[in-house]
Amino acid sequence: MANTPYPESYYAASANAVPPRPALQDEVETDVCVIGAGYTGLSSALFLLENGFNVTVLEAAKVGFGASGRNGGQIVNSYSRDIDVIERSVGPKQAQLLGQMAFEGGRIIRERVAKYNIECELKDGGVFAALTAKQMGHLESQKRLWERFGHTQLELLDQRRIREVVACDQYVGGMLDMSGGHIHPLNLALGEAAAVESLGGIIYEQSPAVRIERGASPVVHTPQGKVRAKFIIVAGNAYLGNLVPELAAKSMPCGTQVITTEPLGDELAKCLLPQDYCVEDCNYLLDYYRLTGDKRLIFGGGVVYGARDPANIEAIIRPKMLKAFPQLKDVKIDYAWTGNFLLTLSRLPQVGRLGDNIYYSQGCSGHGVTYTHLAGKVLAEALRGQAERFDAFADLPHYPFPGGQLLRTPFAALGAWYYGLRDKFGY
Ligand SMILES: Cc1cc2nc3c(=O)[nH]c(=O)nc-3n(C[C@H](O)[C@H](O)[C@H](O)COP(=O)(O)OP(=O)(O)OC[C@H]3O[C@@H](n4cnc5c(N)ncnc54)[C@H](O)[C@@H]3O)c2cc1C
Repeated sequence: MANTPYPESYYAASANAVPPRPALQDEVETDVCVIGAGYTGLSSALFLLENGFNVTVLEAAKVGFGASGRNGGQIVNSYSRDIDVIERSVGPKQAQLLGQMAFEGGRIIRERVAKYNIECELKDGGVFAALTAKQMGHLESQKRLWERFGHTQLELLDQRRIREVVACDQYVGGMLDMSGGHIHPLNLALGEAAAVESLGGIIYEQSPAVRIERGASPVVHTPQGKVRAKFIIVAGNAYLGNLVPELAAKSMPCGTQVITTEPLGDELAKCLLPQDYCVEDCNYLLDYYRLTGDKRLIFGGGVVYGARDPANIEAIIRPKMLKAFPQLKDVKIDYAWTGNFLLTLSRLPQVGRLGDNIYYSQGCSGHGVTYTHLAGKVLAEALRGQAERFDAFADLPHYPFPGGQLLRTPFAALGAWYYGLRDKFGY
């Protein structure tokens, strides 16, 4: 039987202890079979259990094995597309619903952490840092826009103020979102899995769904067992492969890389990020970073289209870190890893139903820590027959990547190269 461990990362090395979970060995029946134990799957499972459903979760490897256990840990509100762009595409009524939900994922995370006593180093405060006057102008209009949808915990930072929150000379200003923040992502997933089990949900690890028998009473097959369910939620995101061909066609797995320094010590850590906020810059191919609980810097950036694993991650990311913080030139990198997120052409999530009883959410295109928590709630609402918010996502238009599955990677890389050049020259 396969036994896929966590990839080596700072998170795996500092994960809270959890009991081993079994692989599925026989045939079980349940109300809802969730495929994938990342945030989308775990959030769905929790909301469903809280509403009286029986839930069985199948995880191909281990809880939080995918992006949910490897990400930058930044609680970034809203979607990977501005709400005014969404409004132009779908009209004011649907945009209003989506805009109202844009900050809900962050609230769900905080509620979960409090309700289930999850130890995941939750900190408040996230900064969007502008590298150019144009980016600063964009942040100003974004603030006005978000306030229109009721999100008011935002503060613009001028050049003097941003120096007070991050010791980096590159920024002309920024925006602080106190409803943003950061977490130890794998420990959040592990805590949510424990909450699922505390409510009677069952999680099987090392149990990949290898086939779905569709129909009125669908069955999910694993190598050694099967789950008969009333509903299925597909939450495998960038790691799903071709289990559901309809979903693979309209999205593309992409890799992004993260490094973690050795512990910096209190003094240097406080000098870099005095308030311990997380930071992401406003470039299309953005850099993001934050401190860990033991005062290391976690720094991420860059995208590998098509999700190939780069040979030397440190060689790619360390120069970016040193550009932001030259004062770290003698600091050792203790961990470097890669993870996959799922890109869609619109950069908006793909949510929907296949037939009457297979539901899915995937493809939040980079910013997924908050959205995936919201997705779980919206999927659970839909299974309970309240589909208004689910439909607001499901009705978003989606298009296949130009070039189909064969050429989508070079086309997307070309697009990113173009946007990277615009970032470089400040357009
Ligand atoms: C390196 C990195 C940094 C990131 N940083 C940030 C950040 O700072 N802030 C932010 O908002 N977002 C960030 N993201 C994005 C965010 O992490 C993701 O959007 C989010 O975690 C996706 O959650 P998910 O549950 O949909 O998918 P995943 O977490 O990938 O979970 C999918 C799970 O499904 C399982 N699975 C797949 N196929 C099957 C199958 N057939 N049977 C059973 N199980 C299956 C996988 O093993 C996996 O555990 C980052 C992503 C990466 C990769």
